[in-house]
Amino acid sequence: MSNVRVRFAPSPTGELHIGGARTALFNLLFVRSAGGTFVLRIDDTDLERSRAEYIDKLIDSLHWLGFEWDEGPYYQSGRIKEYTGEAERLLAENKAYRCYCSVEDLARARDAARGENKTFLYPGTCRNLTPAAEESLRKEGRGAVIRLRTPDHGTTVVDDQIRGEVSFENEMLDDFIILKSNGQPTYNFASIVDDLQMKITDVIRAEEHLSNTPRQILCALALGYELPRFSHVPMILAPDRSKLSKRHGATSVEEFYNEGYLPEALINYIALLGWSPGEDREILSLEEMIESFTLQRVNKTAAIYDVAKLAWMNGHYIREYDPEKLAEAALPFFRKRGLVEGDLPAEGYDYLKKVIAAVRERARTLVELADAAEYFYIGRFEYDPKGVKKAFQKEGTAELLRTLTGELRSLETFNMESTEALYHAVSERSGLSFGRLIQPTRLAITGRMGGPGLFEIMELLGKEKTIARMEKAIGYIESLN
Ligand code: GLU
Repeated sequence: MSNVRVRFAPSPTGELHIGGARTALFNLLFVRSAGGTFVLRIDDTDLERSRAEYIDKLIDSLHWLGFEWDEGPYYQSGRIKEYTGEAERLLAENKAYRCYCSVEDLARARDAARGENKTFLYPGTCRNLTPAAEESLRKEGRGAVIRLRTPDHGTTVVDDQIRGEVSFENEMLDDFIILKSNGQPTYNFASIVDDLQMKITDVIRAEEHLSNTPRQILCALALGYELPRFSHVPMILAPDRSKLSKRHGATSVEEFYNEGYLPEALINYIALLGWSPGEDREILSLEEMIESFTLQRVNKTAAIYDVAKLAWMNGHYIREYDPEKLAEAALPFFRKRGLVEGDLPAEGYDYLKKVIAAVRERARTLVELADAAEYFYIGRFEYDPKGVKKAFQKEGTAELLRTLTGELRSLETFNMESTEALYHAVSERSGLSFGRLIQPTRLAITGRMGGPGLFEIMELLGKEKTIARMEKAIGYIESLN
C-alpha cells in the first residue's frame, strides 16, 4: 500500500447529494489508482444541523454506490479532545489567543462595516491582551473564543492540483475563530486538524471550500505540520446554469435510487461531470475509470447536469446488466408497483427474469421497466384509446380475433415458434397482412400498441391467459358497436 491517503468528509445535514457522491468518487478513483487508503470521516460538529438519521442514509448511499472505504468512519464529534489539545498548543506557543469580544460587540462592528460597504474583518481587539486584562475579563464572566493569529501581510498560496496556484491576500484573512466559546471547533480548524493528524496526503473536495483553504493552510503552518495537497473539483450546475436544486428533479443518491437508476450508471454519469478519460469513451466501468483517472484531467469549469444523458446511460446499463443482478435490482420496483407480493418462489423469480429480458430493451429506468412489465402480471388494464380506434374499430376485427382464438386454442404446444407459425398460416390463408393480425392481438393481450415481440409475450403469458384476454377483447369490441 502506498502512503497516499484521502478522505471523504460529508456533513450529516442531508442526504448524499450527487455533488457529494462525485467528490467521493473522485477521491476513490484517485486513491485506488495510487494504491492508497480511503478514509471516511463524518463532519458532525454542527450540532444543530447534524442528524443521526442522515449518517445512516449517507452510509447506505455509499454502500449502494459500492464506494468502500478502508478506514473509519471517524466522527468529528468524538474528537473534541484532539481539537482542544491542538488549540491549547497554539495558545501556549502564542500562535493563537483568547478573544473575549461579545457577540453584540462583533455584530455592531459587522454592521458598521456593512454600512461602509466593507468586508468585516475582526479588528484584533483581543490580540495583545495582558494576562492581567484577561484575568479581569474572565472575572466579569465573559466567555472566550480562540482565534488564530494570522499574518497581516503577504499572501497564502493554494497550490491546487486542478486549478494551479490560487493566491489569497493575508490582509483579507482576519484572525478567525478556531474554537468557539462552547468548546466546539469551527469547520476550518476541525477539518485541517483531522487532515493533519490522519496523515491525509490529498484533500480533494468541492470548489465551494476553496476560500476556506488558505485559512486551513495557516492553521497547518501554525501547527507545524506538512501540508497536504489540495484539489477543488468544479461545481455541478443545472442546464440553465443555476445551482442544482430540487426543482431540477432528483439530486440526492437516494432519490436516484428511488427513480430506478443503477449505481453503475450513476457512477459512470457523475464521473464524466467534470472529468473525461481523454478519448471519446463514455461508457466506463469503475475499473476503467481507476485506470485512466488523473486530477489533471478534471475540468476547472463547472459541469452541466443533463438528466436526459443520465437516463440514456442508465438505459444502456439496464440492457447490458447481468440478468441475475438486474432482477435483484428491479424486484423492489415490481413490488412497489404491486406486481409481485410476498416472497418470490423459484418459478416466480424465473418468470420475473424472463419478463425483464422481454422488456429491458426500451426501459431507461427500473421504474419504466416495471411499468413495461405490468401486463405480464395484471390482466385488468385499459386499452390504449388510440389503439382502440386504429386496431379494434376496424371492420371485422372481432371476427378476426375469434378465428385466431380458435386456432390458438387448438395448439398443442403453445410457444413463440408455434404461435408465430400459426399467425403466418392464418395470414396466408385469409389474405390479411401479418400486421393486421398482430395489431389487435397485441392490444387485446397487453392493452398497448408497442412492446416486445408479440409471440414472446404470448409464450410468457401462456395459452390460458392469452386466450382469456383475447375473449375479453372480443366482448369489448362487440360492446362498442
Ligand atoms: N464536511 C464538508 C462538507 O460536507 C466537507 C469538508 C471537506 O471536505 O473539507 O462540505
